[in-house]
Amino acid sequence: MKEILEKLLQMSHELGREELHLTILGEGNTSARVSKEQFYVKASGSTLGTLSEKDVTLCDTKKVLDLLELESPSDTAVDETLLAARVDEKARKPSVEALFHAWLLTLPEVNFVGHTHSIAVNAILCSPRAREFAEKRLFPDEVVCCGSKSVYVPYTDPGLALARAIRHAVREYQTVYDFAPRVILLENHGIITIGPTPEAVIAAMRMADKAARIFLGAAQVQGPRFLSAEQVKRIAGRQDEKYRQQALGI
Ligand SMILES: [Zn+2]
Repeated sequence: MKEILEKLLQMSHELGREELHLTILGEGNTSARVSKEQFYVKASGSTLGTLSEKDVTLCDTKKVLDLLELESPSDTAVDETLLAARVDEKARKPSVEALFHAWLLTLPEVNFVGHTHSIAVNAILCSPRAREFAEKRLFPDEVVCCGSKSVYVPYTDPGLALARAIRHAVREYQTVYDFAPRVILLENHGIITIGPTPEAVIAAMRMADKAARIFLGAAQVQGPRFLSAEQVKRIAGRQDEKYRQQALGI
């Protein structure tokens, strides 16, 4: 458990590095699966780059997930349940985005989740071309680290409504594609990356950020020109790329 917390803190510090331009102030949050019953999530208002043990809250997964099933709980009820979901009463209040973290950590092979407001990614997510960025791929390393397609979630009010919209979009993706998502893009909001290890979460986040910068640059020279569906499929299925993924721990 201590090891998981340590990994979560390291992953948070990496995602919060100022020069990466993924988050500022209290933006973004991270989480890690401890067991089927519990997960760690960043506390509300803390800073990713300097996250410490006291800024992370251990939560009861079921108590948080039960909120997703309620018809229309008030904001106060959501707040009270989040406080009640803390394993240690003295711990800080979990972020309201703990709702989507709890659900994403129930997916197969998802042990870590990162969420940021990358400037480059948000420049596209706040534009009419957002969906195109989610559905297409620009270069081979983007396919390797971010998967063949990203999940796209139209703008939704943060909190419970957003957690439900993410669940809906991921389930829809799972019925259409036979590969697991690595990247979830939230229209006019930000990006979530998920994976079995902190390395996978960081790789998907940094590569999606790079792809966004390339998209923005290419758009200035009459682009982007995307990889074709066949080209993406070929990269995703290549053995040498799979070895590379393993070597990178993603
Ligand atoms: Zn956010």
